[in-house]
Amino acid sequence: MESAENLQIPVYLGVDVGGTSIKIGIVDDSGRSLAHGNIDTEHEKGPQDGVDRIIAFARELLTTTEVTWEKIVAIGLGTPGTMDIKKGMLLHMPNMSGWDDFPIRDYLSEQAGKPVAFVNDANAAAYGEYWVGRGQEYESLIMFTLGTGVGGGIIVHDNSLDGEHSHGSECGHIIIDSSPDARICPCGLSGHLEAYVSARSVALRTVEQLQSGSESSLQQVLQNQETITALDVANHAEQGDALALQIVKETAEYLASGIVSAMHIIDPDIIVLGGAMNFGGHEQQTGRMFLERIRERVYELTFPVLVENTIIDFATLGSACGYIGAAGVARRQLGSV
Ligand SMILES: [Zn+2]
Repeated sequence: MESAENLQIPVYLGVDVGGTSIKIGIVDDSGRSLAHGNIDTEHEKGPQDGVDRIIAFARELLTTTEVTWEKIVAIGLGTPGTMDIKKGMLLHMPNMSGWDDFPIRDYLSEQAGKPVAFVNDANAAAYGEYWVGRGQEYESLIMFTLGTGVGGGIIVHDNSLDGEHSHGSECGHIIIDSSPDARICPCGLSGHLEAYVSARSVALRTVEQLQSGSESSLQQVLQNQETITALDVANHAEQGDALALQIVKETAEYLASGIVSAMHIIDPDIIVLGGAMNFGGHEQQTGRMFLERIRERVYELTFPVLVENTIIDFATLGSACGYIGAAGVARRQLGSV
């Protein structure tokens, strides 16, 4: 339990909706998480049921803190998929049938009796890292979130670049290959960064190499499991497997192309790499090699002044960045500070 003296009021509720789970946290005015937890999305029950369970769980979380429901001044809601931020609508939600075209912001606001700030989940994550994570000392940040897909978020002087049509900061869909045989992105278009650096792509590119006969300790894994994950690649790279290391290195180089394109538009203080697929991050040799190769390649492709001044590093908040960032966006837009 957090002590009342340290509590920075007002307090916000942060919600990070995902296809399988929803992360929910009570966040104070300094960005500190007072209590947090997950519920299963159970998307097949529909968005109204999901919102009702978010509120019920938030009320339950509050009982572990000294904060009452009345003390929450606003809610930040981050969601995946495509959305109309101005209207507060979900548009198309892949993997969440029944949630399309739902006015989620207003429904949550009515049920909770609180104002709601609505934001893309990747922009929420970027805001979290900007507010209290790796980017907290800086004025501007670009975040790439590497998971099953690739999310992007851009924060400049406390503003999240959501765009006029809710499609700003889509760094996963930067074109890095415009040749006719470029890979197809899950969005249906070709040559996008996500098609080269997502966990799905890392697995696919590895399987292609194994099927073409490349020698690797991963051949046995493919035989046993009939599939390969990005985590398998990370583990085998850590044990020195040459193919796995090559895949990690190529992923870093593809990512560097996307980073340079975004850098040349925004010129931020820092590029932050978040998401579960970091090949072990700073904790493992492979993760450190991944980061070093990204830096080397970015610095080969950009201007001297940016080589000297642009920081590239892993995120620090882990999976908490989404709900903390959503709470931060609510504080920014709706807080009565
Ligand atoms: Zn795409």
